[in-house]
This record gives sequence, C-alpha cells and structure tokens, in this order.
Amino acid sequence: AKRSGDTAISFFDRKMESAVKERLQLSQALNHAIERHQLSLAMQPQVNKYQQLIGFEALLRWNHPELGEISPADFIPIAETTGAILSIGDWVLEKSCETLVRWATNSSSKHLKLSLNVSPIQFRRGDFVPRVEQLLKRTGANPKNLRFELTESLMVGDINFIVRQMNSLRQLGVSMSLDDFGTGYASLAYLTQLPLDELKIDRAFVQDLDQRGKGELLTETLISLGRSMNLAVIAEGVETDKQFERLQELGCEFFQGYLFGRPSVDAERYFND
Ligand code: C2E
Ligand code: CA
Ligand code: CA
Ligand code: CA
Repeated sequence: AKRSGDTAISFFDRKMESAVKERLQLSQALNHAIERHQLSLAMQPQVNKYQQLIGFEALLRWNHPELGEISPADFIPIAETTGAILSIGDWVLEKSCETLVRWATNSSSKHLKLSLNVSPIQFRRGDFVPRVEQLLKRTGANPKNLRFELTESLMVGDINFIVRQMNSLRQLGVSMSLDDFGTGYASLAYLTQLPLDELKIDRAFVQDLDQRGKGELLTETLISLGRSMNLAVIAEGVETDKQFERLQELGCEFFQGYLFGRPSVDAERYFND
C-alpha cells in the first residue's frame, strides 16, 4: 500500500511540475508571438433582427508553430499574469484601427462597428486613454466605429477611476459595452453608475432559453434591465432559430453567434455586396 501511495504522490508531483513547465513555456513563447507574426484577429459578425450585418467582434487567435491554435481562453489569463497582455492589447487595438480605416473606404462597410475585448489590466493603466487617443489620430480610424467590451471583473477596487476612464473614452467617441453581463457579482450595485452604451447578455443566458419557464426568467430580466436603462442589448452565443426568435420576443435587438457566422480572419466574406 505504501509503495502505491508513493507512486501516486510522485505522479501527482510530476503532473504539477509539467503543468508549471507548460505555463512557463507558454508565457515565454507568448513574449515572441507578436514579433513572430503568430497572432491574428478573427472577426465574428453581429446582426440586427433582420439579420443585417451591423459590425463585428474581434477575437484574438494565436497560431503557435508546434502547438497549433491556442485558445484565448487559455493564453489570455497567462498574458495577464506576466504582463504580456499590455503589448498584446496594444497590438489588438492597432490592428483594429487599421481594419476600420480599410473598411472606411467602402460604402458597404464604412458604417460597421468593431468591438474589442479590453483586459482589466490594460484598462487600469494610467495612460490607457492617451494611448487610445494617439492611436486613433495616427491611424485616422473613426472612434465612432470602435467599441470596447469590458467585463464585470473590472468593477472591483477604485470604481471612480474606472468611471473616469470610461467617460474620457466616450468623449473621444468610443462606445462602451459590458460583456458577459449577468455572470459577475454585484452587477446591480454599480450598473447605474457606469457610462455604458451596450449590455452583452452572456451565452449562458441564451442557452437557458432552451428550457421555457424558469430557465428564461433571468434572461428576460437582464434584457428588460438593459432596455430600461436605454442601452443597446446584444446577445452572444446564439446558435439556434428558436433562441433567436425567443430573444426577439424578450426585446433583444442585436445578436451574435454561430447561427449568423463563426469568427473568421476573412471578415469580408460577411459583407453584403
Ligand atoms: P468572449 O468575449 O465572451 O467571446 C465570445 C466567445 O464565444 C468567443 O470565444 C467566440 O468564438 C465564442 N462564440 C461565439 N459565438 C458562439 C456560439 O454561437 N456558440 C459558442 N459555443 N461559442 C461562441 P473565443 O474566441 O475562444 O474567445 C474566448 C475569450 O477570450 C473571449 O470570450 C474573451 O474573453 C477572450 N478574448 C478574445 N480575444 C481577446 C482579446 O483580444 N483581448 C482580450 N483581453 N481578451 C480576448
Ligand atoms: Ca467579448
Ligand atoms: Ca462575451
Ligand atoms: Ca461569454
């Protein structure tokens, strides 16, 4: 019994050790990802109730030469602990502005909005707002077409500072969306204080619509809440016609999900003409 116990412990240690090693390897590789041109942005369409294209969400992709495609859900948390998220965030912002400038030359795409995910680490930087302002100036991108998606995890600590940052960005013309709405804590306590333009209903609440009755009560409440605050309400992760129909009945106006299109590095395939 003792022998097998020892074996179990050392196996566990080895597993731990390899997990730590893996993280370390990933974080080192991540430092070179930008300069080695391994990052790209996949664009996922956002539509209105007529399924007309209104914009895109930019989703980061990391193509590692040996490991293949690594999900942002796996590497963003690492990038946040190492600080690599700062240069990665700058890269996403710059690529997005360049994309908007390209879209602005075409009448079928110049109205499109581009939503970016902004990490709390990035947003809490003292110089985040001047950085954004400079980049907009340098690229010539129209701030009206740019939207930042923030998550509820940002709303801890100095909320006044966050509100000031958001106000300054809105003064530049950039709009603000609260991502994964409903999944965080204490949402209601600060919601009315935040200068928001949009609420993004998390995919979990879209899935809840598959069971009628109790399952959809919370979804309905979140949508009504957004509408009563005069915010645009968009649902993410819409996969079925049934979910699309029910969301419309509940007052949701904008939609994103596999039903309308998967994230693609070739956004133009979704353009109307
Ligand atoms: P998120 O912001 O909630 O993004 C939505 C995720 O749901 C994306 O996963 C998207 O591909 C996926 N999705 C979209 N439609 C559907 C659907 O109909 N069904 C299902 N099952 N999934 C759908 P992805 O691309 O793997 O991104 C994961 C997360 O990584 C994002 O979640 C976001 O939090 C983070 N992320 C992505 N890009 C960036 C970035 O540039 N910066 C930062 N800070 N975070 C990012
Ligand atoms: Ca998002
Ligand atoms: Ca989301
Ligand atoms: Ca989500």
